[in-house]
Amino acid sequence: MFSDKEIKKFKELETPFFYYNIDQLKNTLEKIKKASNKFGFLVHYAMKANANDKILQIIKDYGFGADCVSGNEVKKAVEIGFSPKKIVFAGVGKSDKEINLSLDADIFAFNCESLQEIEVINELAEKKGKIADIAVRINPNVNAHTHHYITTGLNENKFGINLWQLDNLFNLLKKTEHIRLIGIHFHIGSQITDLNVFKNLCLRVNEIQEIFINNQILVEHINVGGGLGVDYEHPDNDNFIDFEAFFGLFHRFLDLKHGQELHFELGRSMVANAGSLISRVLYIKKAVKTIFAILDAGMTELIRPALYQAYHKIENLSSTKAIEFYDVVGPICESSDTFAKTVQLPETKRGDLIAIRTTGAYGEVMTSQYNLRDIAPAVYSDEI
Ligand SMILES: *Cc1c(COP(=O)(O)O)cnc(C)c1O
Repeated sequence: MFSDKEIKKFKELETPFFYYNIDQLKNTLEKIKKASNKFGFLVHYAMKANANDKILQIIKDYGFGADCVSGNEVKKAVEIGFSPKKIVFAGVGKSDKEINLSLDADIFAFNCESLQEIEVINELAEKKGKIADIAVRINPNVNAHTHHYITTGLNENKFGINLWQLDNLFNLLKKTEHIRLIGIHFHIGSQITDLNVFKNLCLRVNEIQEIFINNQILVEHINVGGGLGVDYEHPDNDNFIDFEAFFGLFHRFLDLKHGQELHFELGRSMVANAGSLISRVLYIKKAVKTIFAILDAGMTELIRPALYQAYHKIENLSSTKAIEFYDVVGPICESSDTFAKTVQLPETKRGDLIAIRTTGAYGEVMTSQYNLRDIAPAVYSDEI
């Protein structure tokens, strides 16, 4: 829902642009902070969801850490002022350059995704005379029941170390003198809306932790990643995620050992609701089976529908006429540049303002300049 003031402002601005409701963002962060503090859990924000400077600043100011998946994200987190002791670095393909800069930054932990990566970090740390703190990312083979492109915790996925490699892992860790194992890490997928999936993860983590303990390894922290889903159908329903129930579930089912910390890496659920992509209708075109509403925003600003058939609610902010059906598409020269088919909208015409909702996560950050498009700017509610 947008206020009259917001819509008036939108009318003055060139489209497309990313709009962020800062109050809504802070409201969500406040809830996460409160619910995680209640159980003493630590949350690292998964920066890849939205790496916009202003958003990062706000998240940092709430005291959250940063979960990075590239060297440039580590650099950015340091620049924004996240404490290096709250920066973790995951990813299946960390380059030597990225590892070196993270060693120099003295980050909290590398979340390691293969045995060979541990060997490489060990060598690079040795050259610098350092000990690298690592967590091992274990692939727990838990089904996230989400879209297969955003499932990461099954044996067939490229992420993490598989359970059958654990003996090799334990042997390797005895030899790598410049590595200190401080945690066990998991991340099974994204946009998970069934809390039972997280319960299954907890039970699995307990079993896996037993294997480590049987090998005389007791780590300082367990990191269960992110993946909590948001309500794309009802963008104004801020109560869809019950953060207290989410963290409470881990408190109840995950068997932490004495003194052990529990870490999370939330991305989408922290920022998705606060963002919308605002665009205008360029043309209405009648076709054989449908009417196309052609927008000035496309897959270059929001690739999720093209990439994972994702649903985003589309609203016409300029019309209250009778409902018609439209295929809402962008201007890019690809048929997949379609936001949604057979969408019900009030009768729509050239120049109408269109809001595509819940784009705060994996929206602006995935922008491309394909077709040599301009980069769409960001507009913030507290600056209009
Ligand atoms: C993407 C990612 C996250 C965040 O996932 P969300 O679904 O946005 O919460 C957390 N941890 C790792 C390792 C990731 O790659």
